[in-house]
Amino acid sequence: MLKKLFKSLRSPLRRAQQAHSTPHVLSNSQHPIKRGEISRYAISVVERLQQAGYQAYLVGGCVRDLLLDIDPKDFDVATSATPEQVRAEFRNARVIGRRFKLVHVHFGREIIEVATFRANHPQGDEEEDSNLASRNESGRILRDNVYGSLEDDAQRRDFTINALYYDPSNERILDYANGVHDIRNHLIRLIGDPTQRYQEDPVRMLRAVRFAAKLDFDIEKHSAAPIYKLAPMLREIPSARLFDEVLKLFLAGYAVYTYELLVDYGLFGQLFPASAAALKKDPDYTDQLFRTALGNTDLRIQQGKTVTPAFLFAALLWPALPARVQKLQDRGMPPIPAMQEAAHELISEQCQLIAVPKRFTLPIREIWDMQERLPRRSGKRADMLLENPRFRAGYDFLLLRESAGEPTGGLGDWWTDYQDCSDSERRTMIRDLSSQESSTDGPRKRKRSSRRKRGPSADGAAKPSGE
Ligand code: ATP
Ligand code: MG
Repeated sequence: MLKKLFKSLRSPLRRAQQAHSTPHVLSNSQHPIKRGEISRYAISVVERLQQAGYQAYLVGGCVRDLLLDIDPKDFDVATSATPEQVRAEFRNARVIGRRFKLVHVHFGREIIEVATFRANHPQGDEEEDSNLASRNESGRILRDNVYGSLEDDAQRRDFTINALYYDPSNERILDYANGVHDIRNHLIRLIGDPTQRYQEDPVRMLRAVRFAAKLDFDIEKHSAAPIYKLAPMLREIPSARLFDEVLKLFLAGYAVYTYELLVDYGLFGQLFPASAAALKKDPDYTDQLFRTALGNTDLRIQQGKTVTPAFLFAALLWPALPARVQKLQDRGMPPIPAMQEAAHELISEQCQLIAVPKRFTLPIREIWDMQERLPRRSGKRADMLLENPRFRAGYDFLLLRESAGEPTGGLGDWWTDYQDCSDSERRTMIRDLSSQESSTDGPRKRKRSSRRKRGPSADGAAKPSGE
């Protein structure tokens, strides 16, 4: 399929890629995209804007993905109409965003995102209208609402492979930055000077990694070179935006490979400093735990199952907990309060960087609390735990810890059997448990029973009321 596309291409060897003022045009016989593969709503938005006298194209990931025979995640439209003009054309449209204003046109559950052509804006405060465009002292773009021509718009897109414009009315592709050439060579290449483009928006470093993992492309060497050094700029990005980006990184079905690239480029430690420290301290266990958690996430996505960010964050932060618990215990805090306090601190610190919403931090705490409770099975406790709404997540998390080599004394198998067996077998399992404890596990029993005495307050403290 791609052969047709590539026959017509020039293939210059380039380092930095500037967008051209005249595009390379591919007619419908020179590329494989068919109108039928495109969302009819996206086509209707483009056609409506064109009929109203504006320029409008499909752009970005959808064109790139269709050229690679991948189902696009969504369809983005670029137009010469301003957000207000776009809104006036559609009853079902809403203007969103401040840093980057755009319009969402709603068709039931499908949303077509319409962006007005942008221009690169001048650097230097005195030249800028801060309502439209602004940068901070490190060159980061704080507001990006200077409108421009189609040519300007191509210039300010991130990667060459994302600066392809498709016009459904004549089925032509406009390629301003030799993006088709880079698709052919499986390369992620920034448009313009890589350092400057990352400084303008450090999230582009995460996007480079995300597309490299998703498409199995290489990051072209000049685009790759500055990432390690500029990675700390991620700390400047608003935490809410980073949360969205992290979900895109890990919930796209390529989380293991994405994680490897993030570590290689020094980006992982900027996003998850405590987890990166744990990775350094105990590399085998921590890496194994992360890979298993992320691999399970990829598998669930492939199988069309749901995934919760809470489980993912619980796994990514778990190896960072023991060092903190130890620190608090060294200061004289008893084990269970130390665990609670460490969990609270760790999550709060992480949220400063990545704003994980409360609806996910609560379940993180609950999954961790379950790890404290799952070993305590005597009497009616096991049955009560089974009825706990977090049991399943807690049990899955226990299996995850075991698969990374954490010793739990066969607790995972015990719980697997317990779920599978009849009531009378369950009673036997609980009886066996206490006889094992009394016959073979004297010291442990003493420890457990003393903990049991503290049970009510420990259980109370386990409730994540502090988050
Ligand atoms: P996907 O939707 O598959 O994740 P995409 O390339 O469509 O990938 P979007 O986030 O939907 O990514 O953005 C649409 C397009 O907008 C991109 O293809 C790119 O041209 C442009 N774009 C998005 N974010 C940036 C950015 N930070 N800097 C420059 N251009 C960007
Ligand atoms: Mg997109």
